Amino acid sequence: MLTEQKFEELLAYQASHPVLSVYLNTDALTGNDESALPRLRAMLRSVDLPQDKEVVLGYMEREYDGKGRSVALFSCASEDFFRVYSLAIPVPDRVRVHDRPHVKPLANLLDRYGYYGIILVDSQRARVFTFHLGVLQEHPGFTGKPVHRMKRGGGSQYPDSRGGTPGRTDRVEETIEQNMKRAAEFAVRFLSQNKIRHVLLAGTEENIALFRQHLPKQWQSRVVETFSVSMNAGASEIQEEARRLVAAYDRQEEAVLVEDVITAAAKGREGAVGLDDVLEAARAGRVLTLLVSDDYHQSGYVCKSCGYTTTKKMDACPFCGGQFSLLPDAVEYAIRHVMQSSGEVEIVQDVPKLREVGGVAALLRY
Ligand SMILES: [Zn+2]
Repeated sequence: MLTEQKFEELLAYQASHPVLSVYLNTDALTGNDESALPRLRAMLRSVDLPQDKEVVLGYMEREYDGKGRSVALFSCASEDFFRVYSLAIPVPDRVRVHDRPHVKPLANLLDRYGYYGIILVDSQRARVFTFHLGVLQEHPGFTGKPVHRMKRGGGSQYPDSRGGTPGRTDRVEETIEQNMKRAAEFAVRFLSQNKIRHVLLAGTEENIALFRQHLPKQWQSRVVETFSVSMNAGASEIQEEARRLVAAYDRQEEAVLVEDVITAAAKGREGAVGLDDVLEAARAGRVLTLLVSDDYHQSGYVCKSCGYTTTKKMDACPFCGGQFSLLPDAVEYAIRHVMQSSGEVEIVQDVPKLREVGGVAALLRY
């Protein structure tokens, strides 16, 4: 599994020979598993690194277990460097040759799907899980004092003065309160130790509400979703629900980001929409966050003398009179410029509004 440590290693790796980076979608759910090898061979045709191609193809042909929904491979055969990560989240196909591993898609995945924690509570126990890059793992949980519920009708004759559930005595209320408090303390330690960024709470609505009260404010604000599930639910049920919720949360976050950028652009200076404006901002190193629809491609032209970039065909550069050369993929060109000037790139899926404004938008630095 891809951990922060392994990611750091990739990030730091710099070779004196070219590094081949491959991302391959092997998702059986969308039928990409069987076509993966032919697609890989086709993508590698234009790569002139015979040894690395052999390593990567050899692995996919003979060793890949087919369990992941995509796979990331990095090879620098001349330096005996080979890393492969099977991913539980599908990513688009991509092949890059550079002096470093191409890690942006992984960074994107870690940012979106990394470091979730799930706490499943009832009045006595808490089960805790990490949910990292689509993979659920249960960790030792918390068990408090047994809660002895009174039999129906056998509870206090007086309505609970604190407005609790009728039929519970003060003793029972107190035990639950204590359990929740200790479960929350336990959960906070677990969440901190595992560098959790986003939290999902699970259980009955009542128990979630009680538990949440005992979480410190900073952790309350990291609860992104709650869901109802049995205390004895199996891992696959919890994982499936978590995947659904996290994907929905990711889409919602993207929609908010797109909305913010479009609003900023409409107000004037801090936003740009459409490829021409975005290219201009990217060239000036002004892009803080670039949003690109994942299916958007567009060719363009770049001025050979001043670097002015546009999607419109012109005879001469309006700024310096220079000649244009063709850019087969102007979107990719913008992405590279933004990354080189330390901007963020978000590949956005399923936000029609971004497509409506031309497929790209950017939040600007100043
Ligand atoms: Zn020019």
